[in-house]
Amino acid sequence: MACTRPPSAPRNAISNVNETSVFLEWIPPADTGGRKDVSYYIACKKCNSHAGVCDECGGHVRYLPRQIGLKNTSVMMVDLLAHTNYTFEIEAVNGVSDLSPGARQYVSVNVTTNQAAPSPVTNVKKGKIAKNSISLSWQEPDRPNGIILEYEIKYFEKDQETSYTIIKSKETTITAEGLKPASVYVFQIRARTAAGYGVFSRRFEFETIPVSVAASSDQSQIPIIAVSVTVGVILLAVVIGFLLSGRRCGYSKAKQDPEEEKMHFHNGHIKLPGVRTYIDPHTYEDPNQAVHEFAKEIEASCITIERVIGAGEFGEVCSGRLKLPGKRELPVAIKTLKVGYTEKQRRDFLGEASIMGQFDHPNIIHLEGVVTKSKPVMIVTEYMENGSLDTFLKKNDGQFTVIQLVGMLRGIAAGMKYLSDMGYVHRDLAARNILINSNLVCKVSDFGLSRVLEDDPEAAYTTRGGKIPIRWTAPEAIAFRKFTSASDVWSYGIVMWEVVSYGERPYWEMTNQDVIKAVEEGYRLPSPMDCPAALYQLMLDCWQKERNSRPKFDEIVSMLDKLIRNPSSLKTLVNASSRVSNLLAEHGSLGSGAYRSVGEWLEAIKMGRYTEIFMENGYSSMDAVAQVTLEDLRRLGVTLVGHQKKIMNSLQEMKVQLVNGMVPL
Ligand code: AMP
Repeated sequence: MACTRPPSAPRNAISNVNETSVFLEWIPPADTGGRKDVSYYIACKKCNSHAGVCDECGGHVRYLPRQIGLKNTSVMMVDLLAHTNYTFEIEAVNGVSDLSPGARQYVSVNVTTNQAAPSPVTNVKKGKIAKNSISLSWQEPDRPNGIILEYEIKYFEKDQETSYTIIKSKETTITAEGLKPASVYVFQIRARTAAGYGVFSRRFEFETIPVSVAASSDQSQIPIIAVSVTVGVILLAVVIGFLLSGRRCGYSKAKQDPEEEKMHFHNGHIKLPGVRTYIDPHTYEDPNQAVHEFAKEIEASCITIERVIGAGEFGEVCSGRLKLPGKRELPVAIKTLKVGYTEKQRRDFLGEASIMGQFDHPNIIHLEGVVTKSKPVMIVTEYMENGSLDTFLKKNDGQFTVIQLVGMLRGIAAGMKYLSDMGYVHRDLAARNILINSNLVCKVSDFGLSRVLEDDPEAAYTTRGGKIPIRWTAPEAIAFRKFTSASDVWSYGIVMWEVVSYGERPYWEMTNQDVIKAVEEGYRLPSPMDCPAALYQLMLDCWQKERNSRPKFDEIVSMLDKLIRNPSSLKTLVNASSRVSNLLAEHGSLGSGAYRSVGEWLEAIKMGRYTEIFMENGYSSMDAVAQVTLEDLRRLGVTLVGHQKKIMNSLQEMKVQLVNGMVPL
């Protein structure tokens, strides 16, 4: 009989898809085969769901850290194809696996990659160079991930980066004109598909020729001048076209944030915005026109309503199915406008569709279309099986791995990056306004104009008359209505806190007035229980008083990606007890709080059954209780996660009240 044997299959594999990258995590096999040398091998198959056949993935897929001989129970695959079904088989192997005639033991995971922006342009060549112009050509990116709609070429004189010019081209060649002789210019190119822009290429430097050389070769330049003039005329036409067509966008942006509009003009150059700009439906004289520009009209007969799943401000929200001619039937959510609406209510209701219809991103709720030609008026969106994120997290308290939580946060940040790139400021970002589907993909929802805040039960009137969800809103937006993407970043920090604390209410039962005062005085929410230090630091960064010091959404996405790629960076947790005991040292003790004894406190939170254990183990005063850590609770035999949370949260809350809330920054 063999002394040892191959291991059994790895268990509980979970996947996290981020555009064209997939992160896999699993638990070691139940049976290691009696050996200590277990490692893992990842097999990758690309599957065609219609034909039901799978092929090997091929060499373009990269495995981080590696495909074979993995010691850790996680791996990341990057450079996969967009919109493709993959099956990954995670096999546990040991030193005798190769000797075994038995079947391979593996767990398989099926995933579908998302839409992704094109990879960078890598190959750029110079063409004709004159004293005032440089021609370039380049090759399509290695992974276009879709049909390339156009390229954007950014260039500037070396060391003068603040003043740059952007031109767009459908071809893979351009000529930059109007350059200075004998000067070095830096060029960067990026491609755009329906998924948006890819990242810019690395910098390519080319130098125009000096006047003297140019003069001697002027004869041979005549054809080039002719081409340059033509390109110049085309460029001028593009610029004028942009200025005319951009007026409406410009106005809408100006309405959202006048500071951003100025950025299009810098040192006399015109900077064309990188991504499509959000158009405020208010800028349309006829709101019906806006709806029909951005949303598809759906025949009511294509929709089957199944059940009511929620209540919106304007009427019921239902789940159902949408079957458009020639398309697969889809599960959908249907928002209805209740009967007896006013014209303004109809306009506001459809306003959300006019906004949503402008967005196309995997982390933004997708609009299927609207029904306006028959009654009831409806907005039809993709169906999100798990509903709103706050309710979902409360229902599944403590059930997810940190990586899963960070995956949710990454999705929300990616959606917000897209919105901020489009120039759209959400103003009501909160876990209740995020929807989550059965794959745990989070999508930003609840778009509206002024009505966003009207319909939010969390929104309260401020002294200046506006209605604002105080706990989620940046101080400058509360104080003087300065809503920007930076104030959305503040709200994002609060959403991070909600997610890591599984739907806890920010600032618990403190009143709105106390929250405003504490935040103004520099106090911040304490770290949620069991929170990785890196995540809490990111929250604190989002809550910087100075709004320009807060991270941008693209930085937040990169930071979360880094954490997902390197899960060990999430292992260091914030040591809540040491932080809170420091605060206690400064601010007094729990002994002077609301409860006279440990028994009274535990009874009040319905945990009276533990009174005896606490007393027997030396936690007989509220001061002693203040030092309790999660480990202590486990040691005392409080093993139920729900009870641990109840006790720790209550302690946290008492300490928070004690120091008027929060952590001084
Ligand atoms: P809202 O009016 O957008 O706040 O929607 C009210 C409630 O309906 C939400 O809190 C969700 O529970 C539910 N809901 C809205 N849209 C969807 C959707 N696309 N999929 C699933 N549930 C939804």
